[in-house]
Amino acid sequence: MLESALFTCGRCGHLEGDTSKLVADHIIPHRGDEGRFWDRSNLQCLCKGCHDRVKQAEERRGLHG
Ligand SMILES: [Zn+2]
Repeated sequence: MLESALFTCGRCGHLEGDTSKLVADHIIPHRGDEGRFWDRSNLQCLCKGCHDRVKQAEERRGLHG
């Protein structure tokens, strides 16, 4: 999935060639739902900086899935 996203962060558009700094993120928290977990249209590629910010914000809102 990360490869098909062309190493580009879906949030800030940052092009990151180092996949260890990219995270596959669920746009809608899957909350254990396998269909949602594997739904590629529910996946986006985020750079680590954006991912950490998004997850911190979600945790503050109690949405962390
Ligand atoms: Zn980013």
